[in-house]
Amino acid sequence: NKTFDVNAWVRPNIRAMQPYSSARDEFHGTASVFLDANENPYNAPYNRYPDPMQWRLKEKVAEIKGVPKECILLGNGSDEPIDLILRAFCEPGKECMLTVDPTYGMYQVAAEINNVTCRKVKLTSDFQIDMPAFLSQIDDTVKAIYLCSPNNPTGNSLNRKDIYQILDTFKGIVVVDEAYIDFSSLPSYTKDLSKYPNLVVFQTLSKAWGAAGIRLGMAFASPEIISVLNKIKYPYNVNQLTQEKALEILNNQETMKSQLTLILSERTRLQQELTAIPCVRKIYPTDANFILVDVGDADTVYQKLVDQGIIVRNRNKVVLCAGCLRITVGTEEENTALLNALKTM
Ligand code: PMP
Repeated sequence: NKTFDVNAWVRPNIRAMQPYSSARDEFHGTASVFLDANENPYNAPYNRYPDPMQWRLKEKVAEIKGVPKECILLGNGSDEPIDLILRAFCEPGKECMLTVDPTYGMYQVAAEINNVTCRKVKLTSDFQIDMPAFLSQIDDTVKAIYLCSPNNPTGNSLNRKDIYQILDTFKGIVVVDEAYIDFSSLPSYTKDLSKYPNLVVFQTLSKAWGAAGIRLGMAFASPEIISVLNKIKYPYNVNQLTQEKALEILNNQETMKSQLTLILSERTRLQQELTAIPCVRKIYPTDANFILVDVGDADTVYQKLVDQGIIVRNRNKVVLCAGCLRITVGTEEENTALLNALKTM
């Protein structure tokens, strides 16, 4: 098994700093009078600060995901851990993160906000990692690699042997963003966490779980990496309402599963019916809840859909995606409306 010395990779100032602490971090006994945090004593149940470590919710996540609770960081969407990894491991103005192109746009935005260089290696024409080019971009300044599988906006899963080769060869942090994993029949990389101490897996309640509105993202990694992220996160980064609602949603897995079944069958129907539409030139394979579709003149088709009140994502200007729209799988009625609109173009 690989080794990963977190202290050798974390930014020196982060290693040296003391995190914010509250009286309740140190207090583990029983008490009934809490006059330590300058809260309003009335207006229960939201007058108190929430559990900064979200242990009740983490226990549920641990049970569902089969990952120990010490290996979980919860955040304000997975956009939060995307940022935290950069802040923990990449020195602003000096160091880099490495990813592919096209992929989820927030990796580059978060890197730019942190003044960290985002190196991007173009995917192959079948949207896989160009391994010789990718590996050649790894040098001493690259501290983290971000991979998204299934990938946004292409929809496909990245080849597993490539991801394992990157995990085997790169010594720094390797993020695998699995926002869309629930729509895929492939296993999660969470099962590889004990073998790869430099692996970080992201998941979210925003997609299959139907809870984008409550903002709950999950990062899974070694307890050592999670400790570093805990040290730099905002103390109360997941609010009380979100913690409670997330627990309720996770306790009702049947709802998610039945909606997932509907989404997957609608995805298949969309894939089939799109092939018969004249403006559709190519439908790319997908393991996610969206389909990348080459419609030729994407700007015109996009505008005509907007005119009919239908919004999709125009990816015409994105590398390797010229002519493409990224279409989210909606309800049966929404998908039928989309198909009918496309038929007129
Ligand atoms: N990762 C990927 C690949 C995504 O597509 C998205 C949402 N568009 C996110 C992360 C962000 O998800 P969240 O709502 O959990 O912040």
